[in-house]
Amino acid sequence: MPDPAAPTPMMAQYHRLKAEAEDALLFYRMGDFFELFFEDAKAAAATLDIALTSRGEHGGSKVPMCGVPVHAADAYLARLIRAGHRVAIAEQIETPAQAKARGGSKALVERGIVRVVTAGTLTEEALLDARAANWLAAVAEVGGRVGLAACDVSTGRFELAELAPEQLDAELARLSPAETVAAEGGALAATTRRPRAMFDAGEGERRLKALHNVATLDGWGGFGRAELAAAGALIAYLDEAGRGALPFLEPPVRRMASDHMAIDAATRESLELTCTAAGARKGSLLDAVDRTVTGAGARLLAADLGAPLTDRLAIEARLDLVALFRADEPLRHAVRTALKAAPDIGRALGRLAAGRGSPRDLGSLRDGLEAAARLHDRLAAAPDRPPLLGELLPRLVGHGALTDHLARALVPTPPVDASAGGYIAEGYDAALDALRGTGGEGRRAIAALEARYRQQTGIAALRIRHNGVLGYHVEVPAKAADPLMRAESGFTHRQTLAGAVRFNAPDLAEVASRVTQAGAHALTAEAAHLEALTGEAVGCAPAIAATADALARIDVAASHAERAEEDGWCRPELADHPCFEVESGRHPVVEAAARAAGARFVANDLSLSPDARLWLVTGPNMGGKSTFLRQNALVAVLAQAGAPVPAVRARIGLVDRLFSRVGASDNLARGRSTFMVEMVETAAILSTATERSFVILDEVGRGTSTYDGLAIAWAVVEAIHETNRCRCLFATHYHELTRLAERLDALSLHHVRAREWKGELVLLHEVAAGAADRSYGLAVAKLAGLPPPVVSRAKSVLTKLEAGRAKTGGLAAGLDDLPLFAAAAAREEAEKPDAVRAALAEIDADALTPREALEALYRLKGIA
Ligand code: ADP
Repeated sequence: MPDPAAPTPMMAQYHRLKAEAEDALLFYRMGDFFELFFEDAKAAAATLDIALTSRGEHGGSKVPMCGVPVHAADAYLARLIRAGHRVAIAEQIETPAQAKARGGSKALVERGIVRVVTAGTLTEEALLDARAANWLAAVAEVGGRVGLAACDVSTGRFELAELAPEQLDAELARLSPAETVAAEGGALAATTRRPRAMFDAGEGERRLKALHNVATLDGWGGFGRAELAAAGALIAYLDEAGRGALPFLEPPVRRMASDHMAIDAATRESLELTCTAAGARKGSLLDAVDRTVTGAGARLLAADLGAPLTDRLAIEARLDLVALFRADEPLRHAVRTALKAAPDIGRALGRLAAGRGSPRDLGSLRDGLEAAARLHDRLAAAPDRPPLLGELLPRLVGHGALTDHLARALVPTPPVDASAGGYIAEGYDAALDALRGTGGEGRRAIAALEARYRQQTGIAALRIRHNGVLGYHVEVPAKAADPLMRAESGFTHRQTLAGAVRFNAPDLAEVASRVTQAGAHALTAEAAHLEALTGEAVGCAPAIAATADALARIDVAASHAERAEEDGWCRPELADHPCFEVESGRHPVVEAAARAAGARFVANDLSLSPDARLWLVTGPNMGGKSTFLRQNALVAVLAQAGAPVPAVRARIGLVDRLFSRVGASDNLARGRSTFMVEMVETAAILSTATERSFVILDEVGRGTSTYDGLAIAWAVVEAIHETNRCRCLFATHYHELTRLAERLDALSLHHVRAREWKGELVLLHEVAAGAADRSYGLAVAKLAGLPPPVVSRAKSVLTKLEAGRAKTGGLAAGLDDLPLFAAAAAREEAEKPDAVRAALAEIDADALTPREALEALYRLKGIA
């Protein structure tokens, strides 16, 4: 007697696979479905909103179960991944026939996990946003440095960076990875944890070399230990997710923090560079600028805006290419039309390399690479060829052998699903054509048989049909079936359905087997071609990826030209000294909103230079202060990304770091004490902004009481002016701050203009020199619809307050007697006990291991 509580062989297999899948949901392949059981089934049913059923019993209770059809699995996968799940796919890894041969007729088909699908390892078209990159990041800490390895497996982009720990947040904010892997027990934030041993520099070096089949990494500039550790973990994680099948990765690009304008997470968020505070693309700078016509172009543009350059030559090179497309309208139009029609070869390559490619993907490579070659010819004919174009052109060609082969081998529009065949073109393989011929003849023979049977039996409704279970068979309506049931009819009964009866027929089996066999052989032959063609294409992966990147760069440049033409944007001039001059600058997002509302956007000028580097902007609420500050920050981002800027003229000294902070009360959505956040972020600026930085501060100090707020704003402005000496726009409603103009010589006063007209406030959104002559708070309140009795009551309170202020000297009374900031700071400094000396005194140099000595050095650097 079998033990009723013992698990069935299937359940035993399931539990083994589930243990291997760990925290991932297990998709267990059964026929045309992926089934989920137990807790997995409950979680998936809830997320997918599908029926939870049950199957058999396990340990005395019913087993919860749900399933998704294999053909629609991508859509369900997408929803599970988006909801934060990981999914392990368990496929049948032998055929039922193999199982039978192995273990007898009752043997269970062997299954294995072929892949773990995670947010960072997707390649499926249905699971990805065509216009957004999908980064997987790994971070490792070695000797006080942080290594960051990031890849987009859907295209093969791969980059490494070694950072100081405090730079990591900004880099992660730039990439916004779908998934971040870090070591277990470490302090680094991550979505996925893996054992420490996976983050080993030596192992990382070995894996990198193996991946790219090189003996040394020196050709790529050499990497630090932290980078190698992160790279090793990244590759190991990909290996684990793909169960040994590694995706294609380009040679790693080494990022240096100094190659890019440093933009921290808070600044990115506040400027809404690539998405809004609410997480939407619409309303972001990216959305306002983007006129790309390809997914790859949109992805590159997002990357460009997220990481503006600091190398003037590299920026000029991009701008030169934009200028070409701007000057030559027919060329721009031709290029954009061609790009628009071209498939996304980067992503097609990603799928093929990951072993999940389809005949359609090969067709995409063929068409995309051919389009690239035609573009090459068009662009090569351009009269003035900027240097960047000269670099890009050779990358567009050189695929002739592959595209010729694909063109001969494939039908014009190959299917996404390979299982039915039909993607290899006629005339490519004589043997395949012969098999197809046999199949075709067979099908004609079957049609002839059908006609003969009808004639023989006199049943006009007789049909020869085919299905997976019976193969070819004869079907007649039930009421006509009787004569065929007799043995002498030559037909043998197979199956009775509600309205029909099915039979085997003489000769049918033989003809059918010819057709089936030829069909099966043809499918096998096609599959072999598919594999060979895929192998050939993947063998050219680096060159194809380079072509994809070049096409994206061209798309971005043409997009910039198109956008600039729409609204008369200008090419920014770059300067080496820290100036910032903008004539008639505009905010692309606010302008678009104004336009949609039928309003006019008022353009404004800015002029900063080393000895006039700080503008204090006052004026009524809603007057346009924030807009003015941000539009200039966006001009800096666009200019250094190599894009035209929304202005009539702009000249900008290269910005090394960009900061944007908004006073706390605009920021209530955040959880932490908002004032605390505001101060932490302000502290970061004061400690890192340099003379080359650009800082916008919007109502800083507002998140606390009036006196505290004014005092903090005052001290921050002084420190920025005296110590950081960066270019800065500071918007405030503290009128008292205007007194700083008397003592800080590089600070000047500006205001957004407003006028009262027939008792109504009119906001002119115009930035003018000098301080605002008065506060318009009450007028704004009235404009906002505060009831008239409340407004008039407020007026009388104000009159009293102002009378009191006149008597006492007001909020800022006494500030004139303050010593200068520099003098005060110097005194503080002199009085401060020397922390570095104290720490040094504590070190016993003879007792340190080399590693401890290095750590002590880092500690000291941290104090200094
Ligand atoms: P503040 O920071 O002074 O409170 P904002 O910059 O937030 O003011 O601007 C308030 C609103 O005024 C914006 O949402 C926009 O509708 C409008 N606005 C701002 N600047 C301009 C401008 N230059 N031209 C036209 N409208 C503007």
